[in-house]
Amino acid sequence: MRRSDTDSRVSEALFARARAVTPGGVNSPVRAFNAVGGTPRFIRSGSGAWLTDVDGNEYVDLICSWGPMLLGHAHPEVQAAVQAAVARGTSYGTPTEPEVELAEEIVARTAAEEVRLVTSGTEATMSAIRLARGFTGRDVVVKFAGCYHGHVDALLASAGSGLATFAVPGTPGVPTSSTDLTVVLPYNDRAAVSRAFTEYGDRIACLITEAAPGNMGLVPPEPGFNAFLAETCRAHGALFISDEVMTGFRASRQGQWGLDGAVEGWTPDLFTFGKVMGGGFPAAAFGGRAEVMRHLAPEGGVYQAGTLAGNPVATTAGLATLRLATPEVYQHLEATATVIKDAAASALVEAGVAHVAQSSGTMFSIFFTDRPQVRDFADASSTDSAAYGAFFHAMLDAGVHLPPSAYEVWFVSAAHDDRAVQRVLDALPVAARSAAAAQESR
Ligand SMILES: *Cc1c(COP(=O)(O)O)cnc(C)c1O
Repeated sequence: MRRSDTDSRVSEALFARARAVTPGGVNSPVRAFNAVGGTPRFIRSGSGAWLTDVDGNEYVDLICSWGPMLLGHAHPEVQAAVQAAVARGTSYGTPTEPEVELAEEIVARTAAEEVRLVTSGTEATMSAIRLARGFTGRDVVVKFAGCYHGHVDALLASAGSGLATFAVPGTPGVPTSSTDLTVVLPYNDRAAVSRAFTEYGDRIACLITEAAPGNMGLVPPEPGFNAFLAETCRAHGALFISDEVMTGFRASRQGQWGLDGAVEGWTPDLFTFGKVMGGGFPAAAFGGRAEVMRHLAPEGGVYQAGTLAGNPVATTAGLATLRLATPEVYQHLEATATVIKDAAASALVEAGVAHVAQSSGTMFSIFFTDRPQVRDFADASSTDSAAYGAFFHAMLDAGVHLPPSAYEVWFVSAAHDDRAVQRVLDALPVAARSAAAAQESR
């Protein structure tokens, strides 16, 4: 696979040191560039829409920390709030005011009546499932192939053989006992959902879904799909968990629920949030109906806890971010996302590269596939990742840092101004031709 031409000597030296002390040299696998080849760029600093790496290269950032940096890097007001919080002390293991304020802000903006703060999206989904099992007294969990909910054992599962059968572990290290109460279904497939509930309805504790899947590229729920899921769960006494760790406060001011829940009248029993609500710090949450949340310790019997949960610095950053995320910010994000998505699509058309552009609110992604539409994981898996690798490195050479994987959403921020967008637009035609060349050379 093609490597980038930019000077990356300092990044390469750091990567060599990192690989000696950390598996693969990274603390989260996708960062290693395995899907695109080459050396990951070690970032020294970020400002607004821009990243500067340790070799001094500047990039327009279309990763935005995989979603959290809604306002851009080092936003002055968020920074000031965080610095003031740090000066007061960083953790007490007692209740603090910022965590109350952040919970109030989330409750005000979403349909969640109560929330519990945690430190990662993984913890949020893991805890939501435990709560659903404790509340219903049932064991079975339903999820969709291609939806990612963090690295929870029961959810690192692949569909078993045959329809609506129990899942098998999706990675070594997960015992079958962790996945043999999980059912994995194809996304956007109502018949498969109905079949699973007919088969196991009285054993299903919950169905968990990304509110608009963004971890297999952006695959929007078909109109009415989330409402259908909520209704099916209700009819069978199971809880509907909407995982909005990526979409919450990102797809729209409320998240995906705010985009189509209001139209279609669906309300989840439980939500999970993360990414944007931490403002670039480790903070996440799960929440929902008060009647369900009251089953959590210390009010109820379902145990859940965290030493750094509701950390005052993290919650201050999240609160500052959410308060600055006005309706105008979302208008800007949506307009910017549309300009970049449309320009990428036309550059690929021009270069003759088959692709599909899909979006939901301010989130979008481009699939390098010849399918007319991507509606589930099987469709997404048809992506030409070698062509994406060539495209990615051409963009990197031109100073645009895309996600180093073909299956990710491209994120923009409120700080992506005309200068940043212009750099992206200028880079696209050459990158599209690189993708075409990679396809022809096969
Ligand atoms: C990122 C993500 C998670 C996991 O969050 P972490 O903070 O990485 O543990 C869970 N669900 C969805 C939808 C996500 O995008």
